[in-house]
Amino acid sequence: VRSWHINGERLLDDLNHLSSFGARPEGGIDRPAFSPACSEASRWLADRMREAGLGARIDAAGNVIGRLGPDDGSAILIGSHIDTVPGGGPLDGSLGVIAGLECLRSLAESGANLDRAVEVIAFSDEEGAYLSMLGSRAMTGTLTEAELNAAHGRKGDRLADAMATAGFDITKLHQAERTRQSMSNYLELHIEQGPVLESRGLDVGIVDSIIGIDVSEYVLHGQARHAGTTPMGERRDAGRAAAEAIVHAFDDLDLRAVPEARITFGDVEIKPGASNVVPGQARILSEIRAIRIQDMRQIRNGVDSAFDSAAARHTVRLEKRSLSGDVPSAMAPDMIELIGQICIDLDHKFMVMPSGASHDASNFASLVPSGMIFVASRGGVSHHPDEYSEPKSLVTGTNVLFETVRRLLARSNGGNL
Ligand SMILES: [Zn+2]
Repeated sequence: VRSWHINGERLLDDLNHLSSFGARPEGGIDRPAFSPACSEASRWLADRMREAGLGARIDAAGNVIGRLGPDDGSAILIGSHIDTVPGGGPLDGSLGVIAGLECLRSLAESGANLDRAVEVIAFSDEEGAYLSMLGSRAMTGTLTEAELNAAHGRKGDRLADAMATAGFDITKLHQAERTRQSMSNYLELHIEQGPVLESRGLDVGIVDSIIGIDVSEYVLHGQARHAGTTPMGERRDAGRAAAEAIVHAFDDLDLRAVPEARITFGDVEIKPGASNVVPGQARILSEIRAIRIQDMRQIRNGVDSAFDSAAARHTVRLEKRSLSGDVPSAMAPDMIELIGQICIDLDHKFMVMPSGASHDASNFASLVPSGMIFVASRGGVSHHPDEYSEPKSLVTGTNVLFETVRRLLARSNGGNL
């Protein structure tokens, strides 16, 4: 079986160069969306695309897009992101974008005559400095006015202002939306960000589903009273109700035995927040992740009823509110099969696995046949300066991506590629 190859050295050089934008002296990268470092990286990327002979543009959402092949008609999209979390690593998102660039560059050099376009896209604000997956959601038209108005950064600065500072106009964001007809497939290469591939000694992971994430807020209103003079039986202790609800929510999850499901209560606030005052209020954020929508609903019901009954037991009033909900999304069986066949042909050891992290791919999965390729992360570490994958793995993943693009193109080029 004939396969094409990308230029590994060039891939690694570009990844290295990209990691200099927003690099902190103490290690790690600060490159949140719409920051000067991210804008500088976007302009550098657009320049690299032009040098490679691609048509390059930055759209109304800040997505950086490079295109090879016909100007009209549908395109195979290769996407990921170049923004980072605070103190992030050099590969999360960046690998997928630079790999996409390298694929298009190698394709351009091959001189192949394409009757279908291929695009590489760096999506804006995947990490949610203002609004998680802003760029891919803008492109697929799922953003609401209310979300855009409410979106703000960690310091309270509004998305609209951050965009304006970076030279974008939030009122024009809708211009980034694309028609279903302008895309034929979506592909994304990403580091696994977990320990599975490394621990099993595998080269490649083929994602079959991307986990859904539900974030909800629970506020318990009790009565703040003197901690010494108020008998235990006469308290309306919001803190105690919260503690019980959390324990019961975990117990409920354990009973369900859904191995890929997760519940995290990572943000708990007790008020007034003094050791000698019975808590009058507790605010808890719950985050639920699951790869099947029915699991998601059942686990959410379990958390809801844990809070309902704890609130009833301690005579506190409960307010619950959904803050965000991304439903789980499935990659196309046809794409899983195609990538699996490529791994067999290229002699790479692989497994089919779910993704516990969310990715831009989840926004395209319901629109076009989508596929995701994982490579091993050392120690499963990500969102951290120590994020690392073997250079060999990065090259392998990019070659699998390249071969996937080639075989998809060959289908419409009458096998002539
Ligand atoms: Zn990412």
